[in-house]
Amino acid sequence: MPSPIAHSVAGYLLAKSLPADRFSENRIQKWSLYIFYASLIAVVADLDFIPQFVTGNAYHRGITHSLVFALGFSAISALIVSVWKKFSYIKIFTLTSIFYGSHLLLDYFSYGRGIKLFLPFVDRFFRSPIILFPGLHYSRGLFHISHLLPIGFEIAISILGIGVVWWWKKSKARKNIEV
Ligand SMILES: [Zn+2]
Repeated sequence: MPSPIAHSVAGYLLAKSLPADRFSENRIQKWSLYIFYASLIAVVADLDFIPQFVTGNAYHRGITHSLVFALGFSAISALIVSVWKKFSYIKIFTLTSIFYGSHLLLDYFSYGRGIKLFLPFVDRFFRSPIILFPGLHYSRGLFHISHLLPIGFEIAISILGIGVVWWWKKSKARKNIEV
């Protein structure tokens, strides 16, 4: 599975690429809050590590990695944000679902046993036959030398992604000035 680095960068890149006008009245606050929200939502599915750590039961990549949970979680957090920030419910629900969905997508395409995408209806792991991320072997421990290669790969991909989005936004802004 990808580490929180890849997941939070995916949230950040989506936040930079998707429109989110009027998340807050203050422009600076708007962007920092929005980007923080996107990165947090993109990582939150992996908090299932906590009950697994506490109880010793295998929760990881279970219900929090299912489509039903993703939609339910997005519906509730969108409700909180829309009331708190007076933001369109449909818009923030759509954005939250995309941020959360990015987590499922990365995990689906990464090395490992897969994710229980269709819980509570189908209790089995699903994984893409094509692997795009080498993934970390957490079974070897949280700090293991074998994590260096996948983390290095994630950092390289993240820098590339940030560079591509930065270049795209820059050329879009330049085009807007020219028009
Ligand atoms: Zn995950």
